Amino acid sequence: MTQQNGNDSKSPMHKMMQLYGIRAKKSLGQNFLMDASYIHQITEAIGADEKDIVVEIGPGLGALTNELQKEAGAVLALELDQKLFEILQVEYKMQENVQVFLQDALTCDIALLVKEQQKKGDFRAGFLACGNLPYYITTPIMMRFLESDWNWRKLVFMVQKEVAERMVAPPGGKDYGALSLAVQYHAQTELVTIVPPEVFYPQPKVYSAVIALHRLEKPPVAVIDEKKFFSLIKIAFAQRRKTLLNCLGSQTSMSKEAWLPLLEKAQINPQRRGETLSMQEFATLADLWTQSVG
Ligand code: SAM
Repeated sequence: MTQQNGNDSKSPMHKMMQLYGIRAKKSLGQNFLMDASYIHQITEAIGADEKDIVVEIGPGLGALTNELQKEAGAVLALELDQKLFEILQVEYKMQENVQVFLQDALTCDIALLVKEQQKKGDFRAGFLACGNLPYYITTPIMMRFLESDWNWRKLVFMVQKEVAERMVAPPGGKDYGALSLAVQYHAQTELVTIVPPEVFYPQPKVYSAVIALHRLEKPPVAVIDEKKFFSLIKIAFAQRRKTLLNCLGSQTSMSKEAWLPLLEKAQINPQRRGETLSMQEFATLADLWTQSVG
């Protein structure tokens, strides 16, 4: 850890907070990153160069933005807080490769912003995205990227440690669930580092982690109908303590009896719980389901 931690009143972020009279808003998940070494690790994990467009979610006081703009061709920073937006506009006024948008990252048309930027220069096709995400939008923002047809290449996000563990979890454990499968269907995951609460201001109650998602060219399993595949996963994890057969019988239009031959064909014991199924087993069962309902 460097000297610029959350308690050091000389950190640049503390100075900015004092200068502009900023109080962190809990409702917007504002825990500002104060430590230069973690900021460096995040920007290194992104690995942007002058041909890259980087979308930053929630720039806050610009802790990451400052480093990103040194490496990336363009930084598109989406901030929901009006006051922070105004400050960032002043701070980056002279910085040609940084654009700050007053936008909600959950609803804003990110692909359109990237497309507009692509027209302005010689940028790589696949864009990068990063951010120290407010806890309350972590899963919806991840799902937005994963379920979209946006041409992203890599995502590097700071998230709550438990959420990162769910994203990288293999089958069989309590962390494995719908989020693990959604992430691992689209990307190769890399747990970059664990981050202690002391390096933020104000300090969160939990540990965080930086996670990198490298987009896969094609998913690790082939399925006939992706929607069916993901709805099967949702059903299997909706009541984790129930057996797979009970989940399927109670949450689909098919009876338990109708499910039994499909499970047998997929060589899945009906008494197993959803959390023990591999992605391939979900894919096989989803295809049998798709074929059976026509
Ligand atoms: N990047 C800064 C840092 O690392 O110090 C700030 C991170 S802070 C955890 C999260 C930031 O996201 C805050 O600036 C907050 O205002 C912003 N934010 C919260 N909800 C948002 C949303 N829906 N869309 C865009 N930004 C949002």
